[in-house]
Formats: sequence, structure tokens, C-alpha cells
Amino acid sequence: MRRSFPLAAATLALAASWTVQARPFTDPRSDRLEALEADATFAGAARDPACHVAVLASTGGALPRNPRTLAIRWTGFANFELVYGGQIMLLDAYFDRGSIFPPLGFKAADVKKADAILIGHGHHDHMSDAASVGAQTGATVVGAPVTTEKLLTQAIDAKQVRTVTGHGGEVLHFGAFKVEPILGRHGDPPAQLVDAFAAALRSTTPPLTPEQLAEQAAIRQRGTQDRRVLTEGTIAYLITLDNGFRIMYRDSGGRVTDLEKAAMERVGQVDVALVAVSASYLNTATVTQALEHVRAYRPDVYIPAHHDAAYNNLWRATEPLFQAVKGDNPRVVTVSKGYREPVCFNTEYNVSRGR
Ligand SMILES: [Zn+2]
Repeated sequence: MRRSFPLAAATLALAASWTVQARPFTDPRSDRLEALEADATFAGAARDPACHVAVLASTGGALPRNPRTLAIRWTGFANFELVYGGQIMLLDAYFDRGSIFPPLGFKAADVKKADAILIGHGHHDHMSDAASVGAQTGATVVGAPVTTEKLLTQAIDAKQVRTVTGHGGEVLHFGAFKVEPILGRHGDPPAQLVDAFAAALRSTTPPLTPEQLAEQAAIRQRGTQDRRVLTEGTIAYLITLDNGFRIMYRDSGGRVTDLEKAAMERVGQVDVALVAVSASYLNTATVTQALEHVRAYRPDVYIPAHHDAAYNNLWRATEPLFQAVKGDNPRVVTVSKGYREPVCFNTEYNVSRGR
């Protein structure tokens, strides 16, 4: 009996703290189920289909209700869709990847609305649908000289194509998006490593059929293999929204350049980094490269890219990167979603305004 009072008091205190704390935890299903919505004050924003439905705005999906909401969707390799302030920006354009890839859930022909397409570099797995999507949307397509050179051999109006070098001083405006191209550098994984993994994969997976080889050859033709891509054709894009929210986009997992370091010295840090994972297969190598990116861009939120693969290849694991990034700086939030699943940001909260 003597022990029952403190126990009852403790129970009461616990019950009281549960009533005060409206949001003790977030049930992962709350994204999908209204009944599980953790916090009623966010219910309006949370029910915004632009932040819940896996349909791109560029293929007819909803734009965020609040013009200050940024919706980001990853669509395989280094493709992203950014929607903000009523505008749609596509980063890279490689959608019709062929039957050897998991489906993205839409085709290049479905992409009907875009204001700008930024191409990180001209390899086919970054630009193969830039001409067709550019032509059907009327979007301005931006890329390095070696990228736009290839683009202009395809069916797109030259007036839509904008060539940038990333050497500094170039600023492009698309509505609320300010875009600064910065010369980056393509990844260059050791040939010994790539060859060894390629041989292992060849000996353990079924070979491509003649139809699949032909399909891949046709897609490959819509990109360039020019060596200039590595050193003068890979552009990082620093994107700043009208309220100061910053995004760094980097579509190849290469070393950080002096030009990127200079840009980061100027702005300090970004809100979101969308960065390709290095193609070096081994986690020791991909982690080292990811840490260089994260330490350079200093993002609040790190979203990896270029980690998926064809059926007969290996996805680049993101968990080892996330663990290393958090080990290096526990404040960095790491996010990786499935194809087309939205990640929404309230951009009023941003690093430029001191939050
Ligand atoms: Zn490449």
C-alpha cells in the first residue's frame, strides 16, 4: 500500500505529459492516412496533394497550394523536379531509360509542363530526353558547351537553348528561381574497380537481348561521349529562391572544384543538397566522396542522387552514406524517397535568412 501512491502519481504525471504533448511521435503512415495526422495545425499543408501524391507537376500533378512550398521529386538517376512559386524546373532529363531499368511511372512524352531544364552534364543518362521534353514544354534548356552542342543536333529550337560555362558571373532567372552555374567535375572512378565489378556482374547476370542492346544504343546516341564532359562539361547549379532558400544540385559524384569552393565561401551553406553518389561501387569510396560534398555545401538536408541502377547492375547504397554523414555532423538531415515521391519544404525557414 505504501508504494501505491508514488506509482499512481507517476502514472498521473505521465498521462498529463501525454495530453500536453500533442505530437509525441510521427507515425510513418501519417503521410498517407488522414486519421493518423500527428498535428492538426499542419493538417492543411499536410493534405496538399502536391506534397503527398506521387505524380509530377510536369506530368499534370498538382502544384503546391502555398507558393512558398517547395516540392522536390526524384525521378531516377540524377533527375529531379522542383516546383515552387507556380514554376516547374527539371534537373537532368533521362526518363525513357529502356526495358533494362525499373520503370519510373511516366514517360518523357508525358512531361508537358516545365519552365526550365538544367542539364548537369551531357552523358546520355543525364540528357537523352532533354530535346524532346524541351520541345514539347517550350522550356529553356541549360547546359555546358559540350552539352548544348549535342542538344542542338536534335529536334529543339535553338532559341530555347542556353549555353553556360560555370566560370562565374552567369546568373539566370526563371520566375522565383535564380540559377548560378558553377563548373564542377565529373566522377572518375578507378578503371580497375569498375572493370572488376563489371566482370563480376557479367558473369552473374543474364546478357542483354539484341532488342535491349538496340534500345540502349538508340538512347545512348542522344548524349555525348566527348572527353570534355569530365573537366569542362559538368555543371553544378546553385539555385536560390526569391526568399533566400538555397539548393545545390550536382549530377555527378566527382571531386569538388575550386570554383565550387569559392561559391560556397560566398554563400556559406545551402538548405538542400541534391548530389550524385560516386560510381565507385565500394562504400569506402562513395562515403569519402559524399563527405567531401556535404562538407563543401553544408546542407541542412542531404538528398542523394544517381544511386539507382538497371536490373543487371547494383544500386549504390545510401545507408552507408547517411550513417557517415550523420557521424560527421549529426545535424544533417538525410532523405531518400522512391521515384516521384514528394519531399516538401517550407522555404520561409531557410539558411540565408538565419531561419
Ligand atoms: Zn556521366
